[in-house]
Amino acid sequence: MEMQHGNLSINSENIFPIIKKWMYSDKDIFVRELVSNACDAITKVKKLDAVGECELPEGYKPEIHVIVDDKEKTLSFIDNGLGMTADEVKKNITDIAFSGATEFLEKYKDKADQDQIIGHFGLGFYSAFMVADQADIDTLSFQPGAEPVHWECDGNTEYDMGEGDWKEMGTKVTLHLNEDSLEFANEYKVTEVLKKYCSFMPYNIYVSKADAEPEYETIDESELRDDDEVIEHISVPAETEEMTKEDGTKEVVEKTPAKEQVKIRKRPVPVNDIHPLWTKQPSQCTDAEYKEFFIKVFQDYKEPLFWIHLNMDYPFNLKGILYFPRINTEYESIEGKIKLYNNQVFIADNIKEVIPEYLLLLKGVIDCPDLPLNVSRSALQNDGFVKKISDYISKKVADKLSGMCKTDRETYEKYWDDISPFIKFGCIKDEKFSDRIMPHVLYKDIDDKFFTLNELLDKINGVTKDEASAEDGSKVEVEAVDDQEKEPEKTTVYYVTDPLQQSQYINMFRNQGMDAVIMRHSINSAFITHLESKNNRVKFQRIDAELTDDMKDGAADLEEETKAMQELFRKVLKNDKLDVAVENLKDESVSAIITLSEQNRRMYEMMRMYGMANKDMLGGDEKLTLNAKHPLVQYVYEHKDNEEDVDIFCEQLYSLAMISNRALSPEEMTGFVTRSNEIMMRLTK
Ligand code: ADP
Repeated sequence: MEMQHGNLSINSENIFPIIKKWMYSDKDIFVRELVSNACDAITKVKKLDAVGECELPEGYKPEIHVIVDDKEKTLSFIDNGLGMTADEVKKNITDIAFSGATEFLEKYKDKADQDQIIGHFGLGFYSAFMVADQADIDTLSFQPGAEPVHWECDGNTEYDMGEGDWKEMGTKVTLHLNEDSLEFANEYKVTEVLKKYCSFMPYNIYVSKADAEPEYETIDESELRDDDEVIEHISVPAETEEMTKEDGTKEVVEKTPAKEQVKIRKRPVPVNDIHPLWTKQPSQCTDAEYKEFFIKVFQDYKEPLFWIHLNMDYPFNLKGILYFPRINTEYESIEGKIKLYNNQVFIADNIKEVIPEYLLLLKGVIDCPDLPLNVSRSALQNDGFVKKISDYISKKVADKLSGMCKTDRETYEKYWDDISPFIKFGCIKDEKFSDRIMPHVLYKDIDDKFFTLNELLDKINGVTKDEASAEDGSKVEVEAVDDQEKEPEKTTVYYVTDPLQQSQYINMFRNQGMDAVIMRHSINSAFITHLESKNNRVKFQRIDAELTDDMKDGAADLEEETKAMQELFRKVLKNDKLDVAVENLKDESVSAIITLSEQNRRMYEMMRMYGMANKDMLGGDEKLTLNAKHPLVQYVYEHKDNEEDVDIFCEQLYSLAMISNRALSPEEMTGFVTRSNEIMMRLTK
């Protein structure tokens, strides 16, 4: 073949400095690009073999070798794929790739920001120049009679191509690393990058050092495989030991039997797993495999609760496994990670355009070969196809959860505390998910029993099992109201956000045979608002929002007492806005209780979320109810004109009521402790 010298068909004087600079932030992706090309080349030759257009040798084993050479400062990628003829090198590498690179630069010259991370997927071979001063290609095409080709390019717009000496079918790409990238001549560095991007690529990838001494290992002959290179056979004699028997005579016993062993050249271990679990049929995977895969991918030793294996071919290709993590505490922030793959090639973590936002709280892998990846992320966002993928994933998750709720309620309840923040977040974020899963959201009551909303409403409204609404959740949907003006009757569901602090209220509820649900996680305030907007038959009220009639005893006229006590408490507490009521409470052990209307509390919480709330807003809207039946309250009432004496009672009653409602401020706490001491001191006199 004649030596060729040519100019790369590209306008730009020298695009490589631009490529280098632009991609500096994650330059290790060149590894992914070159290994992907190698995989593609193997896939192509296997396809040709399958359709009879070429014949692969008996026992053909597709493999990719990555060889680091720290002396020569090179990094090579060798595949036994289809290889290229000189014409193909010119067409595929020189012409196409360069036009691709020019186009790429045209497109992104103004917006070279981090958001384009996957936008540049597809830059391909030329990403090598991020780390190399020179790249060589040695290749031999699978075609009968093909000649080996050598091509080299020094990172300028010129290349040389001529006869080569590569004897094996396939391609070797050699990068002469630049001074800034010598780290890639280190096998540990390269292995690390390969593990990041190529852990699940479909053909075995081996890393080795160019001048590595061969290593050997000794195995039992029975474990010998066809392709092992045997160095020598070793016969190991049996191991014996002399034992003294009970009667004092000696006996020789065999400890290990004789065996035949072989010394072989150490089997290389691929860095990747060519059959990641997600590529298998769900029915063929065991629980142990799912757990092992989880640890391997996420280095997370907290066992996942359960998982969903996605596997579909139509109308698009999508496979993956989503794990539901165990959440250890109520307040632990949930940090998930969804790894996105394209045909077993890692693309990036947490791409929110493809994966519904609430699913990013999970851990998992998604492989979608049909994704249009060489577009920018903003284009992905508006892509109808990508939206469909996202919807599908969301639907699958909802189906799995609702299925579990219907068929394995016990397990579902066991997991509920862990998965509920995630599900509620999903309801708020994703309308369709919300519609599917709302009927299967559980509510745990103060006796730790679980109910769906329908079950709960039936219970509260005293509906018996026979009359109970259908399981399908049809009742949850908003009913068509004939008279648009008329709001349907709402059922109030009381809830507890902090069972310890609110225990006084809980006791009062219990004593009246009333129920409340526990809603500890902060997501619940947004979830309740969401639920109320979806369902006009229910309203939520925190357990300390008001005193219900059930808790009061009769309608005694306590107007005068109320007026007098309000005046007294306002004066003592120096708060002339304080709302005070005197009532006969059924629970005689309760002296005083604070209530804060649901509306005001929600408003306050919202302001706090936006950082707009200040301390003055606390203690403005609450209502203090005094129990007329309680001796302390009676004492205060009787001595209300003797201020000296009742001051401390008023203050202490107020603090005690407040403690059950919210955390005291530092000043309030100090006052409370001082007064408590003083009261005990009086007892000593
Ligand atoms: P892309 O892979 O996106 O097509 P590249 O610049 O990476 O772009 O490669 C251009 C073309 O060069 C490939 O489509 C392929 O035909 C050819 N090629 C690259 N690497 C190899 C290889 N290792 N073996 C065979 N052909 C290759």
